[in-house]
Amino acid sequence: MTTSLRFASLSFATLIGCVGADPAVERDDVADGEHTSTVPIAIPGTSADFRVIQTSAHTFVLHGYANAVLVDVGGELALIDTLAPGHISPTDLPNLQATVAFLASTGKVSSSKVRYIVNTHWHPDHVGNTGALRAADTEVIAGRGGIVRMSTPQHIAYFHAELPEWPAAWWPSREVASNLTVRDMLQISYAPYSHTTTDLVIRMPKEKVVVVGDLIIGGANAFTDHDNGGSMRGLLLSLENILGTLPADHLVIPGHYEVMTKAEARAWGDAVRAGLRYVDAKLAAGASLAEIQAAAALPPEQGGAPAATQGLAGDVITLPAFVEFTYRDLTERDVKALIASRVLARLKTVDTLAMVAAITASTLGGEAAAGTEYDTLAFEVGELEAVGNTLTAGAKAAMAVYDRHVATAREQGRTDLTAAEYQAMLLELARL
Ligand SMILES: [Zn+2]
Repeated sequence: MTTSLRFASLSFATLIGCVGADPAVERDDVADGEHTSTVPIAIPGTSADFRVIQTSAHTFVLHGYANAVLVDVGGELALIDTLAPGHISPTDLPNLQATVAFLASTGKVSSSKVRYIVNTHWHPDHVGNTGALRAADTEVIAGRGGIVRMSTPQHIAYFHAELPEWPAAWWPSREVASNLTVRDMLQISYAPYSHTTTDLVIRMPKEKVVVVGDLIIGGANAFTDHDNGGSMRGLLLSLENILGTLPADHLVIPGHYEVMTKAEARAWGDAVRAGLRYVDAKLAAGASLAEIQAAAALPPEQGGAPAATQGLAGDVITLPAFVEFTYRDLTERDVKALIASRVLARLKTVDTLAMVAAITASTLGGEAAAGTEYDTLAFEVGELEAVGNTLTAGAKAAMAVYDRHVATAREQGRTDLTAAEYQAMLLELARL
């Protein structure tokens, strides 16, 4: 989410910002494993549109342009996301600094030292104050690809955002491509091909919360940054993985807007899934993107998108935009190759066996194997190369075999491999 979200966020936050204006609100100590009320803590010196909510004994949600989560890990702090840079939101940094200072000085957290910064993903409204907040020994943890995304110019098509190479002080010092536990409190796991392809999810069982970044934009529709590895089906799969094992009493902290109960998060996911099924059915009936967008806006009883999906549409992620993200995911990516890519993305080293398995799983049957199956897997191979993951010589040779067969088919205007071509490809792969 970038610039245009500001307006929606500000007006919403301004409306409810007054709730916590009474500095006389006294708070009881919060026991481990308990959730607190949603009354904001009044932080002196912060702007009226900024709110801080304590969700559990050691966890505080900071609602600025986006959400940040401050966790007392015992003598030091972890900060999940650092809100937006000054050119998007000039108040985020001073609000953040005032919050850390106030919570430390009042003993609500045990230190003012930010020892860990975790990026839920690389979008600037989530990483914009890392440079100002990091000390020499601060570990900055991102999902695989976070360093490349911040150290080279990037483009977010939906927001027409041309992003520069950010200062080195923003860059992560460490990337996670599988799982990482910090201080026995933060269980960090990588969720590729979801909102972007750098998403991290942070579970905190002792605090009974999970931080999901922009996998959920509560109160708005799902946004998948398709050109940067976002995928509507991937996002729903990741969400299912998270919520499927989450105890019912845990809270879900999204990348923007209000903290949710597990049930609310589930309902949100169901509304997005209903929208995906709607677009998928229209597509199967031969409708074009423009036709689906027009149909979706009709009242549900007249063939429009499900009411729950329509209910998520807003100024920032409009219904036509949601339809487009979903349409592109369904038409430009193949689900078998998407799942294979999610597996590859979590490997440190991709060897012959892994690449052959990924190609075989993606192309099962040979039909359309030179179409979206290839494009989806080729995107992941490009990603592996860009982030410097090891592709062994055998893995590269396997992809070269696939490249060659696809090139032959495409030269003849086909997206299918013939049965003979497909058998020949499998035989070549088996010999590697
Ligand atoms: Zn984002």
